[in-house]
Amino acid sequence: MNNPQLDKNGRLKHLLSIEGLPKDILTQILDTAESFAGVSEREVKKVPLLRGRTVCNLFFENSTRTRTTFEIAAKRLSADVVSLHIGTSSQSKGETMLDTVNNLVAMHADIFVVRHAQSGAAHFIARHVAPHVHVINAGDGRHSHPTQGLLDVFTIRRYKPDMHNLRVAIVGDILHSRVARSEIHALTTLGVPEVRVIAPKTLLPEYVERLGVHVYHDMRQGLKDVDVVMMLRLQNERMNGALLPSAQEYFKCYGLTPDKLALARPDAIVMHPGPMNRGIEIDSAVADGTQSVILPQVTYGIAVRMAVMSMLAGSGE
Ligand code: ASP
Repeated sequence: MNNPQLDKNGRLKHLLSIEGLPKDILTQILDTAESFAGVSEREVKKVPLLRGRTVCNLFFENSTRTRTTFEIAAKRLSADVVSLHIGTSSQSKGETMLDTVNNLVAMHADIFVVRHAQSGAAHFIARHVAPHVHVINAGDGRHSHPTQGLLDVFTIRRYKPDMHNLRVAIVGDILHSRVARSEIHALTTLGVPEVRVIAPKTLLPEYVERLGVHVYHDMRQGLKDVDVVMMLRLQNERMNGALLPSAQEYFKCYGLTPDKLALARPDAIVMHPGPMNRGIEIDSAVADGTQSVILPQVTYGIAVRMAVMSMLAGSGE
């Protein structure tokens, strides 16, 4: 079957999910991002790779980091960038998502960056746009957030270059997290030998072991000797009814505190995709501590998004 994310020469055409992408494409994105990481450190932070192209940010759901870093990344590639505030657009007048997209294609938009609360929204758009248009999924429901997964593995590779010798723990609301799904696919495809998920039963998807992860319900056991701890936010906006006794109880069992972190390897790094809820899933002493790489994750997000957009622009039909 055709891979909807690749063109007929096997190059990246759309980025919709990490699942289904071959290891060599993931590695190519990370290696390309490595070369762009240097651009952000220069005095003139621009390269002309997307000159004359238009990138359209289409965010149907809130975002701070993802929208801003996509915008900065597109500008550093010299693209023209349009960010649509959907609340003030024709969607509020009843226009369908596809009509909005087609109108923007009529204005010669080349790349769409799409966030939507509905899983599958970016796939749907990719299936219906003209062949020269590229779509990037910037988060769809609880399904996928591929550029977050990629920037997370990029960050891990920067701090822990030997990916074949790592233990990674992902902690928290795995059930509703598109980030966790993307991270798990990225880590296992890149050959990380041990990926653990740590969560109460109510916050784990059924059959999660089938994704190739080890399941822990006890955080102290799960953190033992890990090299990387990835914390997740409770996705209250995606929960139907109460799945937890209380925020205090959750913090007691699954909040990352200095004493729990001490069970991981002494050089373990702490990650979080943001937005962080201090005192719910993470203690400030850890979030702002020496092992935290939460802000470098944000910085690397720009290089990774530059890499993805430049690769898409170089693909065919
Ligand atoms: N920013 C990430 C996302 O959009 C994580 C989160 O919201 O908790 O999925």
